[in-house]
Amino acid sequence: MLMKTLKKRIYLSPPHMGTEELCFVEEAFQSNWIAPLGPQVDAFEKEMAQYVGANEAAAVNSGTSAIHLALRYLGVGQGDIVFCSTFTFVASANPILYQGAIPVFIDSEPDSWNMSPSALKSAFMYCEQAGRLPRAVIVVNMYGQSSNMTSILQICDRFGVPVIEDAAESLGALYNGKASGTFGKFGIFSFNGNKIITTSGGGMIVSGDRDALNKIRFWAAQARDEALHYEHSEMGYNYRMSNILAAIGRGQLQEIDKRIDARRQIFHRYYSALSANDGIAFMPEPAGSKSTRWLTALTVNPSLAGVSATEIIEALAEENIEARSVWKPMHLQPLYKQNAYFSHSPEMSISDQLFNQGLCLPSGSNLSEDDQDRVIECIKAIVKGGIR
Ligand SMILES: *Cc1c(COP(=O)(O)O)cnc(C)c1O
Repeated sequence: MLMKTLKKRIYLSPPHMGTEELCFVEEAFQSNWIAPLGPQVDAFEKEMAQYVGANEAAAVNSGTSAIHLALRYLGVGQGDIVFCSTFTFVASANPILYQGAIPVFIDSEPDSWNMSPSALKSAFMYCEQAGRLPRAVIVVNMYGQSSNMTSILQICDRFGVPVIEDAAESLGALYNGKASGTFGKFGIFSFNGNKIITTSGGGMIVSGDRDALNKIRFWAAQARDEALHYEHSEMGYNYRMSNILAAIGRGQLQEIDKRIDARRQIFHRYYSALSANDGIAFMPEPAGSKSTRWLTALTVNPSLAGVSATEIIEALAEENIEARSVWKPMHLQPLYKQNAYFSHSPEMSISDQLFNQGLCLPSGSNLSEDDQDRVIECIKAIVKGGIR
């Protein structure tokens, strides 16, 4: 009987455990301090704040809840407008709805694939004329790369509107030498399983404002007032991180610079092997930016490459290799299609183009060179002029 044996699965961005995680988890077990909170959480918060150079950090159970808490702190409520990058994962925008507020989506720019300052400016001008400025702006840093923070902060400062940096995908990236996630009033990170470091699930919120983070910790732990009994004068959430997961995070954090080097190395191998092909363009890294290359992302112009991004994803799937389309923009999602959207220019929506032509290749920091070659060979075999 003939059976096609399935080749080993190559994942897009699987977890990559080091050697220290179990030691910290062991510490937590020894002290029987499993949950909630505890010394591992305190230490993880300090170490994260130190790593990104923020005043302070608060550990929570997801990146999504970190965004939610930041929005609440900024007073975002029923009927308020919040600007948000359109080119992102839905978790950036949903917390706006949790607060009963209205997202308005902002396009990307070609240089960084992140929020377009000119689209942002148009949105502000429109809202100013309508006499209704946004309460906050959520700027998302995709695939390991910072947004153009200089221009974005200049615009937001001019209108006096605070920025939340969704740095879930950009932990470890630099912008003009400063850590991604430390430019806004709040920066948020995610330790979901596919991120550059993981606690299996978790998040962190950083800020220069210590009082704000204390308030956020209070809300995240059911808003318990100080009293011997359970006393509550405000509504809270069960959003804090457990001591065990923080222990994993501490071990992961020790390895992060190695993980960034590995991902950048993977990007460079893809780039060297494929960038000469007509119609293939890799996500740029603007001057002054250091991307972690969390995921290697590229666009494929089918009329030049002779193959589309979708066909490449399908060909890789046949080889048991996981590749994905880039994020589908929020303004194209059924959930958000009635929301306002401001494109990069009146004739050009960059995020639509990226979605039509973009894909992400397996980029895990534990991807072997042999496995990476499988990906490269598969793509080379189907792009025009691939056999050279
Ligand atoms: C992963 C991710 C989040 C959400 O983080 P969770 O920890 O999964 O809640 C938010 N924004 C972006 C851009 C992400 O990639």
